[in-house]
Amino acid sequence: MKRVIKLILLGAPGAGKGTQAEFISEEYGIPAISTGAIIRAAIKGGTEMGKAAKEYTDKGALVPDSVVIGIIKERLAEPDCSKGFILDGFPRTVPQAEALDEMGVEITDVISIEVPDDTILERMSGRRVCKACGATFHVKYNPSPNGDRCVCGEELTIRADDDPDVVRSRLETYHDLTEPLKDFYGKKGKLKIVIGQEKLEDTTALTRAALEA
Ligand code: ADP
Ligand code: ZN
Repeated sequence: MKRVIKLILLGAPGAGKGTQAEFISEEYGIPAISTGAIIRAAIKGGTEMGKAAKEYTDKGALVPDSVVIGIIKERLAEPDCSKGFILDGFPRTVPQAEALDEMGVEITDVISIEVPDDTILERMSGRRVCKACGATFHVKYNPSPNGDRCVCGEELTIRADDDPDVVRSRLETYHDLTEPLKDFYGKKGKLKIVIGQEKLEDTTALTRAALEA
């Protein structure tokens, strides 16, 4: 029997958290929860929360803590989270991490995927997403087998917040507000560092090793 995994993935936007979250989700049979994906779905659905969030995400700014904490609280209460989960993109600030503690959530592992800012800028400019099914590709590193179209047939698009200026500002936000979480979880003895590799599979191997160590 595999142990219960309640994992936080840390890493700059574009570090590859989402891809690793998908792999771990399949391998361990636990849900991968992305606050970014939940927020994008709310924006697309035109909900009140989505409308309020869009003003922040378009600028590359963080959505207020109270909003994302509410999202996570609801999601973690769903029955599929009882056997473990992966948090991709939450917490992103120290108050968000403190909120998890206050909810009584016992995180077992924190993995920080580390990638230099320059590499991230190159990766984000090539990222393409599918608005229909949510799949993500990269023109160079992870191209769609259908070229300009998704595997589902929909045309691929560039996310507004993948614009280089917006990416630079998101990286700044990451260093200022999210990176302190490495210290927060390091002090609890939970932090493991994975150096992001050029090839997805190589990062996956290191992530697996970090979880099994
Ligand atoms: P990336 O990891 O590429 O930055 P995400 O999909 O995780 O993208 O998030 C997209 C946007 O959603 C962020 O830029 C931010 O505005 C918002 N967001 C997602 N998660 C959080 C969070 N935990 N706290 C605040 N804002 C968030
Ligand atoms: Zn698609």
